[in-house]
Amino acid sequence: MIHVAHISNVYDKDLVQTTALADVSFDVSDGEFVAIMGPSGSGKSTLMHILGALDVPTSGTYTIGGKEIRTCTEEELAKIRNKNIGFVFQAYNLLPRTTALANVMLPMIYGGVSKEKRVPLAAKLLADVGLGDRMHHKSNELSGGQQQRVAIARALAMNPSILLADEPTGNLSTQQGEEIIAIFQKLNAQGHTIVMITHEAYIASHAKRIIHLKDGKIVGDTKIH
Ligand code: ADP
Ligand code: MG
Repeated sequence: MIHVAHISNVYDKDLVQTTALADVSFDVSDGEFVAIMGPSGSGKSTLMHILGALDVPTSGTYTIGGKEIRTCTEEELAKIRNKNIGFVFQAYNLLPRTTALANVMLPMIYGGVSKEKRVPLAAKLLADVGLGDRMHHKSNELSGGQQQRVAIARALAMNPSILLADEPTGNLSTQQGEEIIAIFQKLNAQGHTIVMITHEAYIASHAKRIIHLKDGKIVGDTKIH
């Protein structure tokens, strides 16, 4: 499903070049649950932006669902991001002062889902993450763990082929983090493919495979169960 071949990414800023990724290659198949681990500065977020088709690497190829990202137009990239990829961020990135339901429906509006279908679909997705009784709460009226669950429901709005999460438990308490991980495990058991970035070994240990990054290079790639 995901094919990454010899990707390098160099940031050029104020005459300083930073190599954030150096010759990274790996594949992710349908139904996998992969954690990408590494210390701060190891290139995790850079890789996530590339996997999410938000950035194109300096060199190397990235293919998702048979499409080579470098050859796509902006319009095609926007479509891939809306239809193929669900994003979960550390800071939730929900619309403030907007209900959980409206937040989950937003990608459906961009994705052209009809008005009649949006409400029942968003309500079901929220119920699936345990927020059936919080649909009409505004995002600022929810706890961090609840906001992240809304973000997961939103990420699933267009039934993407892959869920990408960048430090999804980074802002949460241990207990809230465990709830988020349990949801990812449930989604993976239902067939969703998940790539999750974390720097916490405990969180990563719930995935089925761990890729270790260090200084922009893959230094380990282990299946764990
Ligand atoms: P991580 O998410 O693992 O902490 P990042 O991918 O954010 O790592 O960063 C990898 C390296 O690239 C770091 O040295 C960082 O300072 C650098 N970097 C990240 N983003 C930029 C940017 N937009 N411009 C310049 N350097 C960057
Ligand atoms: Mg990061």
